[in-house]
Amino acid sequence: MHIENSKPTFEIEDGKRFHIPGAVLHGKCPKCKSDVKIDFSDDYLSYPDTNTPFAFSCYCRECSHEWKVTMQLNVELVLVDEKAAKR
Ligand SMILES: [Zn+2]
Repeated sequence: MHIENSKPTFEIEDGKRFHIPGAVLHGKCPKCKSDVKIDFSDDYLSYPDTNTPFAFSCYCRECSHEWKVTMQLNVELVLVDEKAAKR
C-alpha cells in the first residue's frame, strides 16, 4: 500500500485556534534585538492554510514592535510500519 500526496493547499476548517505543542519560534526583535520566543503550545495559528507559505505576525513584548515572518505548515499523511509504531 502507498499514499499519494499531491500537497494541494487547503484550510484546516476546525483550526480556529490551531496549537502545535512542541513548536517554538526563537528569534530576535529586528528593532530592539531582544530575544523573542513564540511557543505554539500557548500561541496559535488561526485557520492556517497548509502546504503553502503564509505570513505570521510576531510581537515583541519589550518594545511593542510588530513584524511578519513567513511560515509554512506542512500536512502529509504517511503510512507507518506497525511494528515501528508500537512501543
Ligand atoms: Zn523589540
